[in-house]
Amino acid sequence: MNSSIAGRISGRTKLCGVIGDPVEHSLSPLMQNAAMEALGLDWAYVPFHVRPEGLKAAIDGARVMGLVGLNVTIPHKETVVTFMDELDPLAEAIGAVNTIHFVDGRARGYNTDAYGFTQSVLADGEIEMAGATVLVLGGGGAARGLAAGAASEGAKKVILANRTRARAERIASDLERVFPNVGWEVVQASATSLKNAAGRAKIVANATSLGMKATDTLPIPAEALYPGQIVFDSVYVRPSSVRSGAAGSPGDTALLQAARAAGCVTVGGLAMLARQGAKSLAIWTGLQPDEDMMLSLLIRHVRAHSS
Ligand code: NAP
Repeated sequence: MNSSIAGRISGRTKLCGVIGDPVEHSLSPLMQNAAMEALGLDWAYVPFHVRPEGLKAAIDGARVMGLVGLNVTIPHKETVVTFMDELDPLAEAIGAVNTIHFVDGRARGYNTDAYGFTQSVLADGEIEMAGATVLVLGGGGAARGLAAGAASEGAKKVILANRTRARAERIASDLERVFPNVGWEVVQASATSLKNAAGRAKIVANATSLGMKATDTLPIPAEALYPGQIVFDSVYVRPSSVRSGAAGSPGDTALLQAARAAGCVTVGGLAMLARQGAKSLAIWTGLQPDEDMMLSLLIRHVRAHSS
């Protein structure tokens, strides 16, 4: 056994974790344990591999064993909603939970992906989202989070573009009920429609899974992007698949490289990962973790494992 762990874990140590299927590649334990230590907490954070058929038992088990909280990742974010005793209004609007806080035996569900996206763009892209037109590419759980985040930051218009138009339409109609002052528009993704939509958008945010594999095409043609535009990619390249390159930075994707070549300002998914995790920790502890330290740690880790 690692002696530092033997010395650190005691009968008073509080426990949090992440549930997913798979979960072994998660970077959350790295950044959460470092952030807990930096806050001087006697807490620990561990990954749990939970398959879909065991999800309810896992939530019940965490509750009775007194865990403080859980992060929830693919593929459980939407299913887990049905096992919550209470839902934060934003999580209810998004229809997905990525953070559970157990309080007095009750499971409260939150969604911090929206915060992770908006804070990354506000901090790293250094722009206001209020009054902006935001183009969100995708129609899955991440697209829901990004669209809700843009709406909650006061975006004037959110354009959702997806390969399967019906999924984007469902997101727009769900979110329109909660954010009626936002102009919602849905387009079927094609080279022409994406070019038209991107030409009207100050921010382009990728929430498709395109970019995770080296063979993936870009989620939007590079010629649709214009200089000065903010391009955000929720996909981040994991250490095991990082290819180093002159234009690349840790966690970089082909979309971000193409966007920089087009003169855009780019913000990567590692920033979202760090900031959504920091928000989860803030919910569990009531303290403000050092978000920049968490992001630096992720960047250093990816860089160290990419050679
Ligand atoms: P999801 O629910 O499976 O949705 C995947 C989306 O990608 C769908 O819109 C799908 O379109 C689209 N897509 C997949 N293959 C495509 C293709 N060949 N051509 C065009 N569109 C395609 O996944 P998710 O949970 O939303 O996650 C999406 C991405 O966000 C993942 O890479 C995930 O790792 C990332 N993410 C990152 C963070 C972070 O903290 N950085 C947080 C959450 C998610 P259809 O609807 O037509 O199938």
